[in-house]
Amino acid sequence: MAHEAKKEYQKVVIDQDICISCGACVAVCPVQAIELDENAKARLIWDVCIDDFSCVKVCPVNCIWPTSQAPPEPKAKSKWYRFNAPLEGELKNTFEEWKKKYNVTGSPA
Ligand code: SF4
Ligand code: SF4
Repeated sequence: MAHEAKKEYQKVVIDQDICISCGACVAVCPVQAIELDENAKARLIWDVCIDDFSCVKVCPVNCIWPTSQAPPEPKAKSKWYRFNAPLEGELKNTFEEWKKKYNVTGSPA
């Protein structure tokens, strides 16, 4: 059932150029779906995020948005998200649909 529901998740978009590496989003995420990357910038683990949007609320510089509310610039940037595991089958389709639906053109890390 949880896997079924995942289809509906919109995830979040992060603008790493605005991120000040405070770690608040990492600390608040209930499912460890955000990490600090090799440049200490917040990075989303796309397939783990469950849309509770705690990270959006705590970011002091407002550089995380629910994907439906994200401005176009960060959606065109790359490497602000990655996958926990290679996407297969239904989840891969869901990812492609998500990109199309929200016009996310940036590539994963
Ligand atoms: S929306 Fe929730 S689950 Fe997704 S990355 Fe943010 S805090 Fe984690
Ligand atoms: S809360 Fe915002 S500024 Fe802090 S690490 Fe996360 S994205 Fe970067």
